[in-house]
Amino acid sequence: MSLFHALIPCAGSGSRAGTAQPKQYQPVAGQPMVMHTLQALAAVPGIASGWVILSPADDFVWPQTGWPAHFRRQACGGASRAESVFKGLQAMLGAGLSGQDWVLVHDAARCLVTPAEVQRLIDACRDDAVGGLLALPLPDTLKTEAGGRVQQTVAREHKWLAQTPQMFRLQALHDALAAVAGSGFAGITDEASAVERLGLQPRLVEGSAQNFKVTYPADFALAEAVLRSRA
Ligand code: C5P
Repeated sequence: MSLFHALIPCAGSGSRAGTAQPKQYQPVAGQPMVMHTLQALAAVPGIASGWVILSPADDFVWPQTGWPAHFRRQACGGASRAESVFKGLQAMLGAGLSGQDWVLVHDAARCLVTPAEVQRLIDACRDDAVGGLLALPLPDTLKTEAGGRVQQTVAREHKWLAQTPQMFRLQALHDALAAVAGSGFAGITDEASAVERLGLQPRLVEGSAQNFKVTYPADFALAEAVLRSRA
């Protein structure tokens, strides 16, 4: 029987967030942002283990409480998100996890994901030949830009914003990323894009607008408000 594991890339510096320390460690609603992320994933009953991928240079002092017992930290992060995920997958396979198990890759900086959303992704993809991802149908009108002016309006039908978790078989995702490692993971901004390069079509599972990635300074207050409203 295949197990489900979470892989949380947590090795970024978050330069767009304007914070002194990496954004995933900024306090949000009473604890470092990443703790909310880990606790949401750990609350999904089917998640057998969690792998938090840190930068080797990381000197963050973790809180004494709240760490999920079945999660572990691995200081094997790389120069890009894709490289951090790839090295995390190597660590998981090296530790003896089955390549047939599922891995759910989820950004440390998406601290508003809910266990119910993660479960929805698992339920939608567990019998899928490829796997899939949470995503959001594009709500706004989309423009392309040139020189600070609108170049053209792009039809928004059939366009989705990719979120995480993204769920694939461990060995399959490892091999998809290995195939683009030689190019320095050029153009690989999520797991699905590596899988798509193999000609496969990951399943789109509707997420929610609240599962946004904390990226810019103003995002922290919004994340804090949402978390407090749920408490
Ligand atoms: O920078 P961005 O918000 O796109 O990063 C998305 C996720 O990938 C974050 O959780 C970040 O910590 C992680 N990341 C990583 N290794 C990198 C860059 C980003 O694990 N080299």
